[in-house]
Amino acid sequence: MVSVVNFAVGKELLIGRTMNTNAYWIGGRLYKMGGMLDRILTVTDSLEEISSGIKELLALHPDFIIVVGGLGPTPDDMTLKGIALGLGRKLKFNEDAARMIKEHLEKAGRVFELTPQRKKMATLPEGGTPLTNDVGTAPGVRLTAGKGTVVYCLPGVPREMRNIFTNFAEKEIREKLGEMHIAKVTLKFSGVFEAALAPSIEEALKMHPEAYIKSHPRGLKAGVPNLELDVTVTSRDKRKARSAYSELLSFLTRRISELGGTVTAKREAIR
Ligand code: ATP
Ligand code: MG
Repeated sequence: MVSVVNFAVGKELLIGRTMNTNAYWIGGRLYKMGGMLDRILTVTDSLEEISSGIKELLALHPDFIIVVGGLGPTPDDMTLKGIALGLGRKLKFNEDAARMIKEHLEKAGRVFELTPQRKKMATLPEGGTPLTNDVGTAPGVRLTAGKGTVVYCLPGVPREMRNIFTNFAEKEIREKLGEMHIAKVTLKFSGVFEAALAPSIEEALKMHPEAYIKSHPRGLKAGVPNLELDVTVTSRDKRKARSAYSELLSFLTRRISELGGTVTAKREAIR
């Protein structure tokens, strides 16, 4: 399995000012690829917190750490400095990064001048490679650390994060994952309480421990419970994924009906 962790930097995420939609997006994207986010760590904009956070995550020896936020020009943006501190590396002005910033500004019809703020955005931890940001000023950064962990640093602005993630991080993660087969379904049903279905989910998981089965209560309508049930099977082996999936789907559908429930909708995706 390929392990990916997310390191979110930004006080606004901790004080209820900004929802961490970047972690939500990255998590969803990875799961659709057949991978998964193993952990999300959020810290405030402080050198101390950023440097101890990166060390904490590196100690898990993940394949990838996706750092998000704090690459910009403002004083609270200190991610690269914090990462350098945590990794015990020097910060170094990077000509390629400066060129990317220059090209971005000139494309937008602005004049480039190497201000202290731009110089900061082009100053990377030693060993870091700048990554083109097609939709914003601050380049992303890729570096390797620890025992072969690849660290991607991405801007916090969601569309910039998505741009660099898809163009660089995602490609590399996909390569490492190899071809994955995913079969999943969401069943909407009514008339069965979550607790009544629980033993059947347990039984299903005994049959296929590799599957992900999760019920979501969706409230009562005139005293009748409504639920959604997600079943996902992910495997490198296409045949295995499909057969486990069909077995689980027919088993759980049968149980819902035996418990007096009615399936009202079924959304399947098989790849
Ligand atoms: P910029 O160059 O624009 O300053 P940056 O990398 O410095 O980018 P931040 O300053 O940390 O990023 O955040 C920029 C914007 O993106 C802010 O409005 C912030 O609230 C938002 N943002 C940061 N992190 C996240 C996140 N994890 N999810 C959603 N929005 C986020
Ligand atoms: Mg910023």
